[in-house]
Amino acid sequence: MKTIKVSVVTPDGPVYEADVEMVSTKAKSGELGILPGHIPLVAPLEIGAVRLKKDGKTELIAVSGGFLEVRPDKVTVLAQAAEKAEDIDVARAKAAKERAERRLQAKQDDVDFKRAELALRRAINRLEIAGKQ
Ligand code: ATP
Repeated sequence: MKTIKVSVVTPDGPVYEADVEMVSTKAKSGELGILPGHIPLVAPLEIGAVRLKKDGKTELIAVSGGFLEVRPDKVTVLAQAAEKAEDIDVARAKAAKERAERRLQAKQDDVDFKRAELALRRAINRLEIAGKQ
């Protein structure tokens, strides 16, 4: 089976590197499925999952936005934060979710509201991905 190299990189360092059969994720423009030989592409990503098909199994990585770059031989995901499903600290994500929900209810200014909304989306994304492993 043909494969393509994938790296998921954050400011703290690499999170994942492997040869996979397919990469799929949600870009701001919609769902993307990348197979070996895909045309070059750069796409901004949503808070969501990067799904990697490897040896017939699917591995999940939580990403907090960022960019996906496709080159003929390689896919790179540059994310502000990224965690493999098995590395997600569920208690921490639950605490972040509750904190964000409290802030959203407190109805402070718009900046705090937007920050809390994004924190809530990151936490929900982590909990969903940790639950699917
Ligand atoms: P928190 O409020 O718990 O820090 P956050 O969404 O604000 O959550 P981020 O700013 O997205 O956190 O990430 C900061 C760093 O902590 C990143 O390296 C990220 O991978 C890591 N991280 C955040 N939450 C978790 C988690 N639940 N499990 C594992 N790593 C996490």
